[in-house]
Amino acid sequence: MSETRAISTDHAPDWREQADCRRPGYFGTDHWFPTGATTGKDRAQAAEAKAICRECPVAMQCATWALQQRPTDGIFGGLDVDQRRIINRRSAERQFTDEEIAKEIRTTWTKDALGPLVDAYLRRTIQGDNGHVWWRGKKSAYTVAGRVLTPGQIAFEVGYGREPQGHVKATCGQPFCLAPEHLSDGAMRWRRSHLTAAA
Ligand code: SF4
Ligand SMILES: [Zn+2]
Repeated sequence: MSETRAISTDHAPDWREQADCRRPGYFGTDHWFPTGATTGKDRAQAAEAKAICRECPVAMQCATWALQQRPTDGIFGGLDVDQRRIINRRSAERQFTDEEIAKEIRTTWTKDALGPLVDAYLRRTIQGDNGHVWWRGKKSAYTVAGRVLTPGQIAFEVGYGREPQGHVKATCGQPFCLAPEHLSDGAMRWRRSHLTAAA
């Protein structure tokens, strides 16, 4: 975010100090103000800014601030201007409470986070027999929305809506299968082994 466009201290004196976009390496970059999100580069830049925002400790305050102040461009709190317009319109129509607005913000974050992964998964997989799913193309890591992920990590996150803990493994006997329901991560295997032990 450039100096002139940084979030004004007039509006946000307390949480602005914790803003990730003000940290060295990010501060002064134009990530949060892609020129129009019409080219691949702009889209990638916007996706990267949104991914940083979603991990920012003050993302909710920032998003709420932007919904109230209505800046006409830029990404704030992980939301671009179109997403802010949609939330504000729905909020005006349905008289949302603060909690309902926070829920809308979270839903938009989730859709943004999973959308590129779902696209990558659908584009590169083939449905096989017996519910198995096969990956087309290289099986090494891919960069999706600024994150470097293996096919197994992509499939797991698409299926379970969270990042896997530890290695992703197929449990169906087909080591290269990527059907989400045939996958497990370290946390799931640990839980299963303890349930089995307790039975
Ligand atoms: S949510 Fe994004 S725009 Fe807002 S303070 Fe954090 S990094 Fe900056
Ligand atoms: Zn399988």
